[in-house]
Amino acid sequence: MTASARTPIVAGNWKMNLDHAAGIALAAAVAGRRSEAAGVDLVLCPPAVYIVPVAGAVAEAGGDVAIGGQNASDKEQGAFTGEIAPPMLVDVGCCYVILGHSERRTLFGETDASVNAKAKAALAAGLLPIVCVGETLEEREAGRTEAVVTEQVNGSLAGLDAAALEKTVVAYEPVWAIGTGKVATPEQAQEVHALVRGLLAGLASAETAAKVRIQYGGSVKPDNAAHLAACPDIDGALVGGASLKADDFLAIAKAFAARSA
Ligand code: PEP
Repeated sequence: MTASARTPIVAGNWKMNLDHAAGIALAAAVAGRRSEAAGVDLVLCPPAVYIVPVAGAVAEAGGDVAIGGQNASDKEQGAFTGEIAPPMLVDVGCCYVILGHSERRTLFGETDASVNAKAKAALAAGLLPIVCVGETLEEREAGRTEAVVTEQVNGSLAGLDAAALEKTVVAYEPVWAIGTGKVATPEQAQEVHALVRGLLAGLASAETAAKVRIQYGGSVKPDNAAHLAACPDIDGALVGGASLKADDFLAIAKAFAARSA
């Protein structure tokens, strides 16, 4: 399968930003202009409390834009105060869920093992997980990028069979590029994306690995998206800051639409 056979996927991680009105307005703007990024899967990941109104705004604008959660529990239900179960995300209209974002790993103690358990629970509920991996600046400077990403991919995706891997999106997000304005060069990103695809082949097969979409994330902006989109193993973007403006988010998606055309 060639790069152009994989449908690009551009997801907006709103993190803990915007309010009810601003979230609805952004979702309506993106959904209303969805045709500008034809051929690209678009996903909006609002804070959990805004999933329902954001899904409503997307539906009202008639846009084919998927909704995702920013995190989920590895449990299906029960006495887990403050947690959100994967079936609950499905129940309110989510198709995707971001798992193991570096902020969850560094600020909330998530590990490859917990991300793996969450990925399995998400898949069991019918969600498509977006599993994040990426090295810190210290790790890159110590020449440990390959070792770190290898451990994260193998640990976070352990035990997923070919069918599950094909439903999974991997987001390579170098921690030093997230929210810093320092984007990886296309060469740096492509090198790690090729590594990730090789690891996926090791977990399943080359055929399966060729079907898995691997997003780049870390200060993706309209002015650097086209160079990233031109790389053969970069199948989309996980976008933080730039996803909070419809113009910027759509411009990034358009860069990947050009690749799929
Ligand atoms: C992110 O939060 O996943 C992210 C990539 O953020 P930013 O685009 O702001 O670097």
